[in-house]
Order: sequence, then C-alpha cells, then structure tokens
Amino acid sequence: MIDNTAELLPDDRWVSGQIALLKSVVAQPLSPRAVSDAERHLKEVIYKQGVLRGGLREAQAALKRMLADFIARLGELSVSTGRYHHRLAGYGERLRKAEGIGQLNAVLDDLMRDTRGMELDAAESTARAAEERIRELEAQLVQVSGLVREDPLTKALNRRGLEDAYEREAARADRQTKPMCVALLDIDNFKHLNDVHGHQAGDEALVHLARVVKRTMRPGDILARYGGEEFLLLLPETRAEEAVEVMTRLQRNLTRTFFLHDNERVLITFSAGVAQREAGEGHTDAIARADKALYRAKQAGKNRVAAAATPGEGPVA
Ligand code: GH3
Ligand code: MG
Ligand code: MG
Repeated sequence: MIDNTAELLPDDRWVSGQIALLKSVVAQPLSPRAVSDAERHLKEVIYKQGVLRGGLREAQAALKRMLADFIARLGELSVSTGRYHHRLAGYGERLRKAEGIGQLNAVLDDLMRDTRGMELDAAESTARAAEERIRELEAQLVQVSGLVREDPLTKALNRRGLEDAYEREAARADRQTKPMCVALLDIDNFKHLNDVHGHQAGDEALVHLARVVKRTMRPGDILARYGGEEFLLLLPETRAEEAVEVMTRLQRNLTRTFFLHDNERVLITFSAGVAQREAGEGHTDAIARADKALYRAKQAGKNRVAAAATPGEGPVA
C-alpha cells in the first residue's frame, strides 16, 4: 500500500518524504512506539492526500469551465471559424460527459490539435482589433492632452504645456548637471503692425514667427507662447552665451524670411531676454530674470538680445 501511494504521487516531495519515513518505521521490529509513529505519519499522508484530492477536484472543475468557455468563444468567432462549428459542438458534448482528469485531458488534447490553426487565426484577428482600438484611444488621448497644452493659433505650447516642459527639462538638467536656458522674446511694435495691417495680419505674423523659430531651433528646444506676442524658448544643454547666439541667429533668420501680407513684405523683429537657469530654480524665477533682461533689450532700442544677471554677478550686456 505504501509503495503504491508513493507511485501515485511521484512529484510530491513532501509526500515522498512521509512515505520514506513510514517505510523505515515498518521495516523496524514493531513496538507500540513504532506503531504510533507509523500511525502519525500515515494520518499526515492521508490528510495531505485529502487536501490534494480537493485541490484536484477544484482544478478539474476550473479546467472544465475554461474549456467550455473556450469552446463557446471559438463558436462566437463564427466568421473565421465557420467550418469548425460542427466539430465544436461535438467537443462541447464530450466535455460535459468527461469525468476525471484523464478524460478531460483527452478532450483538451484533441481540441488543441484540431484548433491549432484556427486558434491562431482567431487570436490574431482579435489581437489586431484590440491593437487598433488601443492605437485609436492613444491617438485620442494624445490629441486631447495635446490640445490643452498647445496654443491653437501658433501650435506652440501654451503656458500649461510650458510649465510641464520646464519641470521635465529642469529635472533632466539637474540629473545630468547640464545648463539650461530660458529665452523670452517679445515682438517689437506689434501694436503698430496690428494697427496698420489689421488684427488678422497680426495673427498671421504670430504664426509666421512660430514657424521660423521652429525651423531654426534644435530638436530638443521647446517653444511656448507665453502671452499675446511673447514667446518663450526652453533651451536644454545650453549656456547663457550660447543662448544669446541662438536668439541672435533667430533674429537674422526672421529678417531674412519676410512675412507676406497682401503681397506686401512686412518686417517683424523681436527683442529677447535670456537667463541661464540656476540649480533648483523654478520657472517663475528663471522667467522673471529673462523678463528683466528683455526689458533692458527694449530700453536699449529693441531688435536685440540681452542676458540676465545671475545672482552675485552683474548683468551681461
Ligand atoms: P513693444 O515693441 O514695446 O513690445 O511694443 P508692442 O506694440 O509690441 O507691445 P504692446 O504691449 O504695446 O502691444 C502688444 C499688442 O499685441 C497689443 C495686442 O493687441 C496685440 N496682441 C496680443 N495678442 C494678439 C493676438 O493674438 N493677435 C494679434 N493680432 N494681436 C495680439
Ligand atoms: Mg508684449
Ligand atoms: Mg511687443
């Protein structure tokens, strides 16, 4: 009996341990003590078998439910699996009658063999449909979150987008101990442009400016519309002197690419203030320093770039 039990459960290390103990107990000359030991080990084995039996019953029931579900779902995919309908019904019947793990296994084996090709088709088309839907949702999500972070006129980031981008870039700059600059630019005499050419022309000028900036800036640079005719550039991995150069180059590009309104060339210029972010400095402080520099650029005659003072240092012209 002990040998048979061991063969029934070849993979259960705990049970084989108990069996080995039982064997050694009964191999000894029998004494009341040996019999009581044997009884104790036997009880434990029987208890464990009971637990296993219960588990097995549950597992069988679960497998049966899963198989029934699988067959039902295969049936629902009737377009690609039309020719399998008849066979599937047969499997359903066999499954209902199946008793014990052996019969269940037989149903499962046959079903798997029969549906290998079909299952792939079905799984693939379902996966493709799900993937498509996910892509659709992702696109919607990007669009929705993009819209609220983007200025609809110029497609530059809006303030909210700017704040997010600043946090992200500032964190990266801190992590990599790299410099980063903010450059605030304000179109010169924009009120005049509006007055002379109309508000529509003003709008088009803003779009034109944003386009030229985007063409000129590096891939990692970020453009945001800060206010009416004010834009802010985030320049990662850039020191103040380089940022001044970037803005000066941008001014040159802008004067080269005329903005056309009613076939009339309209020259747009801007003034800019540049500030290199201090370690740990938030966007409010960094932009305030750039704004002060911008004010100096305007005072100095417009169409120029000024760098902000860094704490403990005098202003750089
Ligand atoms: P400065 O050189 O000192 O910057 O003078 P400015 O005329 O550019 O500056 P000011 O602040 O006096 O006027 C800015 C003008 O920008 C006033 C406002 O009507 C105009 N503006 C703000 N937002 C928009 C917009 O979205 N479209 C248009 N067309 N105009 C705008
Ligand atoms: Mg302004
Ligand atoms: Mg202005």
